[in-house]
Amino acid sequence: MKRAEDYKKSIGSLRRPVYYRGELVSDVTSSPATAPHVNAAAETYAMAFEPEYEDLALAHSELLSRRVNRFTYIHHSPEDLVKKIRLLRAMGQRTGTCFQRCAGWDALHTMYILTYEIDQKYGTTYHERYLDFLRHVQENDLMVAAGMTDPKGDRSRPPGQQVDPDLYLRVVSVKEDGIVVRGAKAHQTGAVNAHEVMVLPTTALREEDRDYAVAFAIPADTPGLTFVFGRQTNDGRKLEGEGWDAGNRRFGMVGGEALIIFDDVLVPMERVFMLREFDMAGRGVEVFASTHRQSYGGCKTGVMDCLIGATSLLAKYHGVDRASHVRDKLAEMVHLNETLFGCALAAGLQALRTPSGAYMAHPLLANTVKLNATRFIYEIARLAHDISGGILATLPSEIDFRHPVIGPQIRKYLQTAPGVRPEDRFRLIRLIESLTGTAALVEVMHGAGSPQAQKVLLLRQANLAHKEQLALRLCSPDA
Ligand code: SF4
Repeated sequence: MKRAEDYKKSIGSLRRPVYYRGELVSDVTSSPATAPHVNAAAETYAMAFEPEYEDLALAHSELLSRRVNRFTYIHHSPEDLVKKIRLLRAMGQRTGTCFQRCAGWDALHTMYILTYEIDQKYGTTYHERYLDFLRHVQENDLMVAAGMTDPKGDRSRPPGQQVDPDLYLRVVSVKEDGIVVRGAKAHQTGAVNAHEVMVLPTTALREEDRDYAVAFAIPADTPGLTFVFGRQTNDGRKLEGEGWDAGNRRFGMVGGEALIIFDDVLVPMERVFMLREFDMAGRGVEVFASTHRQSYGGCKTGVMDCLIGATSLLAKYHGVDRASHVRDKLAEMVHLNETLFGCALAAGLQALRTPSGAYMAHPLLANTVKLNATRFIYEIARLAHDISGGILATLPSEIDFRHPVIGPQIRKYLQTAPGVRPEDRFRLIRLIESLTGTAALVEVMHGAGSPQAQKVLLLRQANLAHKEQLALRLCSPDA
């Protein structure tokens, strides 16, 4: 298994074009824009060597007959899916942000299930191929980025009816030794600091769109791949140096999302896991969605633990921690967070066994987790803003705080409870700002699919006909 430093070294040595604000990033492990995200992902490697996390961070791989980092492991029981959520919460508490590696982990899990089911239906041999790839990932303890979301162009049209056929990633040609693909994947978490990119279709497909039914994995430095790293709220502050204005400066605000462009990329046949089996694309989306949506009840509750702690501390610094309305709001924050966590655990406990032998999170509960996250996390952030006060939006910069003329005045006029150092209060305010900023909240809203996508699956899974029968039975004349 890799240690955190091995991971950083291996990512630093990758040669591929990564753009940020018009410039090529030569080393993502040292660029101020990307380094925090590398640090956050590196914690998934560090944790695997800490005895107290042994049970959560490691798992026994049947493929290698040895223990591997759990972020490369396929869940084979409900208990595995419960451990996953506990691991993600611990990781969220540790980093206070998205540590990225679970998106690819969830894609690994999805392809395990999907390749098996495609083979069952079509007599193909994708699963064997896929196991070779999985072995490679586990042996080398690789980080995989999930390439799920296509740019989608005009949302009212299917892939083949877009003005530009490349707005969904597609197969351009099939050769003897591989396939050529073109297109892009947007908002890809951890894309610039992963070893491999795994691509899946983003939507259910019809026969006329069979060229869009493609799944594969390629090394991140494959020729033809280009990465464009996205901007985040306040990302300019990272360029100012090591100060506190950047908030969670060691681990960043969100997952470090990027646009990945595939410019006629040759994918070797041994890395192709779906090729034109269009009727299986929807199943892939369903499995990935359930798997990744459950994850939000782990990572985000860990991040919210950090926010609740920061808010509670700031209330102390302000001298309002004993006010009954503040305690009531803190209780509300805890309640929302634990509700989210409880539902994610339940989605694991109620997991479904798939024909491959792997378990997937209960779809109804997993989608409930994600829909709740889009509400509860915003509400927890709202309460944090309420308790923190307007200073969250008006705090002067650290540069002013350190200024020889104005700095002493800032200390004098922005002091609070006796014994509280102004700089400690300011650091905390910047952390809360970072944990509740636009990018952090939008990631919760749209990451793993937008709320409407969850509602579609909720209704599909809810079995309304059964509920209608229950009602009829109670109110029928002979009840
Ligand atoms: Fe993992 Fe959460 Fe980030 Fe998704 S949002 S990649 S589940 S940490």
